Amino acid sequence: MDCRVAENLVDNYIDGTLRGKELESFLKHIENCPSCYEELETYYIVHEATKQLDEEEDHLNFDMMGLLEEDIRERKIEIGRERWLNYFSFGISGVVIIAFAYFLAHVVFPWI
Ligand SMILES: [Zn+2]
Repeated sequence: MDCRVAENLVDNYIDGTLRGKELESFLKHIENCPSCYEELETYYIVHEATKQLDEEEDHLNFDMMGLLEEDIRERKIEIGRERWLNYFSFGISGVVIIAFAYFLAHVVFPWI
């Protein structure tokens, strides 16, 4: 992923529509590219500040950079969970296919 692509994805990261593999390569780029990280940080701070003002929270959290780091950490956990879920559902569909093949072979066409 190059910087132009990463910059275009900043909005999607912030509104939470960036997912899966795209999110993963975005995070990888951000970690190795200080200028894109800064770009994300700027957008994130603006977004968080507006959100907190909208919600009229009792105490504003001004540790925006800490919030972004926390957010990135959570997204990574989410990626790991999604990947695990993919393997899991892949495994399940494998079992279903085998069970179906077994069913066909022994119940529907027992003479095969
Ligand atoms: Zn970059």
